[in-house]
Parts: sequence; C-alpha cells; structure tokens
Amino acid sequence: MQPNGYNVAVCNAEMEEQCKMAIIIDDFGGFERDGVEEMLSIDAPLTCAVMPFVENTNADYQEALAHNHEVILHMPMESHVNLPLAWYGPTFIRNYDSVDDAKLKLDACLSQVPLAKGVNIHIGSGVCRNEKLMEGIIGHLSSKGLFFCDSRTHIGTKCQEAALACHQPYLGRDVFLEPHGMKSYANACRFLLEGANIAKQKGYSVAIGHVGKEGGVQTARAIKDTLPQIEALGVKIVPLSEIYSQIQSQVV
Ligand SMILES: [Zn+2]
Repeated sequence: MQPNGYNVAVCNAEMEEQCKMAIIIDDFGGFERDGVEEMLSIDAPLTCAVMPFVENTNADYQEALAHNHEVILHMPMESHVNLPLAWYGPTFIRNYDSVDDAKLKLDACLSQVPLAKGVNIHIGSGVCRNEKLMEGIIGHLSSKGLFFCDSRTHIGTKCQEAALACHQPYLGRDVFLEPHGMKSYANACRFLLEGANIAKQKGYSVAIGHVGKEGGVQTARAIKDTLPQIEALGVKIVPLSEIYSQIQSQVV
C-alpha cells in the first residue's frame, strides 16, 4: 500500500476486468423517499447505507436485501458545526463521546441491520477528525468482522491514521455523485464516469450517491444510464465488501 492509502494501480489492457467500483447509496431508512424505489430496482449490486432507528429503517433494509444489494450501516456521527438534531436520527455518535459510549451506540445501531457488512458515516464532519475516537470505532468494527468506509465528509478526516493504528486497510470515498449540493442528472453521470476512471487508475474506487433530497431519482437515473459506459471502460460494479476484501488481502 502506498502512503496515501491507495494500492498500486493494477489496471492494464490484460487486467481491465479487475477494475472495480462500488456505488454506495446513502440515507436509506429516512422519511424522504425520493428515488428509493428507482435505486433499489437498479440491476447492479449497489451498497445500500441504511440509517438506524428512523421511519423506514427496517423496510429499506429488507428491500435492499430482497433486491440483492449489499447493506451497510449509515452511522450518524456529529458534525463540526451545529446542525438540527433531527438530521441525525435518535442515536448518533457525538464529538465528545468516549470510545465505550461509541461502541454501545454502534452495537445498538448494528442490531437494526444485522446482515450489514460494514459501516460508513452519515454527516460526521466532527467525529471523523477525532483520531482516538475513530480508532476505537474502527477497532471495534474490525473485532466484529465489519469494515469501515470513510465517507470523507471533512478534508481533515483522521480515519486513515485511525485505520492504520488498527492495522486495517483504509477505504475511503473517492467521488460524491452530488458534491456540495450540486444535484443534477448531468453531474451524477459526470462523477460516475470520474469514479470509473479512478478505478482504472488505482484498481478500485468508491462513489457515494443519495436517496432523498440530496440525490434521489436524478441520481438513480444517472446510474442506470451510465452503467453501460462504466462497463465499456472495463470497470465492474461490485459490493463494497468485495473491494475491502481485495485491499485487505493486499496489506502486508
Ligand atoms: Zn447521510
């Protein structure tokens, strides 16, 4: 692994079929339903990030599995600025939580999505910069056989340092499909192709889109329409756990 956490690029003419891209869709479970149905019906293995303890947690969790998508826990974590508490849902990790408190909250939230393969971050621009807390979180997840994916919601994220301290490979988001609220069909298509090109350079990539007001139907349509182009580039859409297993096996 290189210092920046990226594996050496493995894509070349003979190995193109090994380039992999995961598409995480955040914010399943909430009351905003824009794009939920359209996203679930996509004929590719998406990674559905489901929020715990909210209106549609169980319904979306069950539907995602029924449609053969992977499920991860979309763990609410505190921002670095004050936000309405309703944005987090009832259970979230706070910036000042102890590692023990964070573990209890994680376990409670994981019980909502028992077949989840891993965890990513909902909001979290404060917690992701707390290296000791992230080390506790990543260590706890790895002890349970679960991976952690850094949504990179703040440029100062310390999740890579925390993953290294836990002797775990670092997995982070490469592109948002609707960055900085730039929600449009054209942008989602553009960033999907950017994600595919990153996968060709480093062997894999992770894209994050959203259901609800941050993404929804436009993002779902963009994914459906762009899948043939991604495939033509020699990039395969895979569940996030497949990428994690691959980079884990490459860590020496
Ligand atoms: Zn979210």
